[in-house]
Amino acid sequence: MTAIERAASARHPFLDGKAKKLLIDGKWTEAASGKTFNSINPATGEVLAKVAEGDAVDIDRAVAAARHAFEGPWRKVKPYERQQLLLKIADLVEKHFEELSLLDTLDMGAPVSRTRNNKRRAVGMLRYYAGMATSIHGETIENSLPGEFVSYTLKEPVGVVGGIIPWNGPLGTSIWKIGPAIATGCTIVLKPAEEAPLTPLRLAELIMEAGVPPGVVNVVTGYGETAGAALSSHPGVDKVAFTGSHVTGQSIIKASAGNLKRVSLELGGKSPDIVFADANLDEAVPGAGMAVFANSGQICSAGTRLFVERKIYDEFVERVGQFGKGLKVGNGLDPETQIGPLVSEEQLQRVTNYLNIGKQEGARAIAGGARLTEGALAKGYFVPPTVFAGVSDEMTIAKEEIFGPVISAIPFDDIDEVIQRGNATNFGLGSGVWTKDVSKAHKVAKSLQAGSVWVNCYQAMDPAVPFGGYKMSGYGREGGLQHLDEYLNVKAVWIKTG
Ligand code: NAP
Ligand code: MG
Repeated sequence: MTAIERAASARHPFLDGKAKKLLIDGKWTEAASGKTFNSINPATGEVLAKVAEGDAVDIDRAVAAARHAFEGPWRKVKPYERQQLLLKIADLVEKHFEELSLLDTLDMGAPVSRTRNNKRRAVGMLRYYAGMATSIHGETIENSLPGEFVSYTLKEPVGVVGGIIPWNGPLGTSIWKIGPAIATGCTIVLKPAEEAPLTPLRLAELIMEAGVPPGVVNVVTGYGETAGAALSSHPGVDKVAFTGSHVTGQSIIKASAGNLKRVSLELGGKSPDIVFADANLDEAVPGAGMAVFANSGQICSAGTRLFVERKIYDEFVERVGQFGKGLKVGNGLDPETQIGPLVSEEQLQRVTNYLNIGKQEGARAIAGGARLTEGALAKGYFVPPTVFAGVSDEMTIAKEEIFGPVISAIPFDDIDEVIQRGNATNFGLGSGVWTKDVSKAHKVAKSLQAGSVWVNCYQAMDPAVPFGGYKMSGYGREGGLQHLDEYLNVKAVWIKTG
């Protein structure tokens, strides 16, 4: 461990022993109830900080502040000025990136080898939204009415946004909600996940430092059933941008009905990753492995249903198992670590439960398969890369999202069959195909019902490329030009000129 990592594990500059507060109307305030909850380091089980437990009362205050800001001077702030604010935030995030990435590692466990690598994406997203702030425009449309009429459209910010995010990428998901809100001239109340609230709070400090006016960005930490539910049902919220599980997504749709607020949903998946016998196996082995093991499998688009052509199935699955066994599992602060802990004891229970179900249903764990309890790892929530062989489509581990480092490897015989089986799921977020045959690659890419298809790679992401789901993986897109439309209303204007 380097000195900074030793220091970080002892005391990160943000972890100063003081309870973390809510950001409402530009001021840091305690929860109205005075309550706090603990944020935990999943590698050690230690309490990192006490965090304000905001609830419906605090959401009310935050929504009022966001509404006031939206209807006040923020409404008149020009796109160029919003662009400058986003560029300033990007500069600050870049400057403080080491601190932010260590905070992500401490709070949710992802190794620094991963969180440090996210710099280009996090800063790039902010600069991408900055660019988009001055690219918002309506259209002049030729109409066919008799007489003389000019018709054009205006794009206007939708209003107050409620952003609700999970814990698996706290910095990135915060930016994915806050960036487009500022770019479009909306205001936002962000509700981070209770398991990883610290990076969003530090990001909020930087946003204030950048000069974003009070009330434009508010952060209310707290529990989903209280703060999250209050935000998604609040009549003063115009749109909810949610990332999380499909079950919570369903609650949010119901909660949004009161004022018919707009909703965009980035939900879970059970993504197929298809390996043909003609693939470059030296690339496909680590590629298919990291498609699931990265972030300990806590990635919504992880390629967890690994379909392997039968003639290479035994050899390939064995090689992925060996690859998994070769990855270094440990405390994410160690730069050598490739696989950190799961985020919480609850998540550990959930994943180990699926490991047991897999074994009971007759799958064979050829790598991993049980929690690690040796030495220092016993204190954290560590599950090693796991590969289940002999999996069939009907098994629970082939159907349900595990959200752990668990591959379910399934044999297939031909392309039409694997397309049909790959699509036989309620989800449709990510998907992968490994082949040297261009025709096969195109056919599979066109046929899979998923928001992203990765060919001879997995999990490639860029701020300019849209990401989102088909089917029960949600609707709406984040990233790309479509993203801003989620935060904009379209107004048609008619002028009789004749
Ligand atoms: P989750 O339980 O749905 O929680 C996500 C967020 O919703 C958290 O902030 C949570 O608060 C909040 N929440 C919980 N119940 C709520 C309610 N009734 N009303 C409003 N908000 C509520 O999901 P998770 O376990 O944190 O994350 C894992 C899931 O997210 C997986 O299914 C994964 O696939 C999905 N995910 C999807 C994407 C994507 O882009 N598609 C990205 C990452 C994760 P608390 O946690 O504080 O209770
Ligand atoms: Mg934590």
